[in-house]
Amino acid sequence: MKALLAVAALILIPFHVNAKEEGNPYEERMVLYHNMEALTHVPWYYLAAVDQYERNIQKEPASKDLISITIPPEIWKGAGNPNQTNVVSKEEATLFNGIGKDGNGDGVADRSNDADILYTVANWISEYGSTEQDVKIALWKLYERDLTVQSIMNTAKVYKAYNTIELKDHIFPVPLFHNYSYRNTWGDPRGFGGRRIHEGTDIFANYGVPVRSTSYGVVEMKGWNRYGGWRIGVRDIHNIYHYFAHLNGFEKGVKVGQVVKPGDVIGYVGATGYGPPGTSGKFPPHLHYGMYKDNGYSEFSFDPYPSLKSWERETHKLKNKK
Ligand SMILES: [Zn+2]
Repeated sequence: MKALLAVAALILIPFHVNAKEEGNPYEERMVLYHNMEALTHVPWYYLAAVDQYERNIQKEPASKDLISITIPPEIWKGAGNPNQTNVVSKEEATLFNGIGKDGNGDGVADRSNDADILYTVANWISEYGSTEQDVKIALWKLYERDLTVQSIMNTAKVYKAYNTIELKDHIFPVPLFHNYSYRNTWGDPRGFGGRRIHEGTDIFANYGVPVRSTSYGVVEMKGWNRYGGWRIGVRDIHNIYHYFAHLNGFEKGVKVGQVVKPGDVIGYVGATGYGPPGTSGKFPPHLHYGMYKDNGYSEFSFDPYPSLKSWERETHKLKNKK
């Protein structure tokens, strides 16, 4: 069986070379993911999501090519392996219990080789099975962190839904033809957000103005919070959590776990919060927009104002094109 896989890997390599000539990294990566799915039966979108997650958190991946997944040397080569290079033989990996595998059929497991990395991860996952629950367990064993597993599963869901990894668009949360205004209030000592400093941007608009998802992602949270009022959270494919608060209400049918794209209406501007469920009107209606980045260790709030400005420009251009 192992020999068969290696032969299959060799046959598949030319596809990679062909795609490379076109120079679109999204297409090139897709080819690699599909090749590995064919070899291991692990659906491509899980591999793509692991890769994307690591691309989002890393500055220096082990591979200088297409794949960002970086497996720590001691896990790849095995603890106690005196080999200082990235490249280990099959016998060596077995001897020291490393997980590194040969995915391109050259006889060695190279920690910086795209095919070897992806094959190793696919192999790791396939040992747990191929159902969604199996993949979740495999990922937990690999990362031992709930938010990491959650983010990867979300991204996989988005990739599967759109059948592509080339999902770059963003949109301004409020339709541009409505009256709205916002300014940079990041870090202000007071704000309608319920935190000590203002972790977000307030976009003032009338009651009932639609609130749209700004990114591709999955609805992760929806409900009432004492300060945020009716609020909803979307985790996108870039490890960023988008928080929409003080809503009048939610779009009908929107539920936790749902895949959304830029422009999908998820709720409506309101003035809820600062009291028990249903409290409204303690401040002027506005959308509180917060952004939180996960770097693989912790999640922290950052200023959404520059992103909002740039999405507003993008949305203007889109409108003018039509
Ligand atoms: Zn606010």
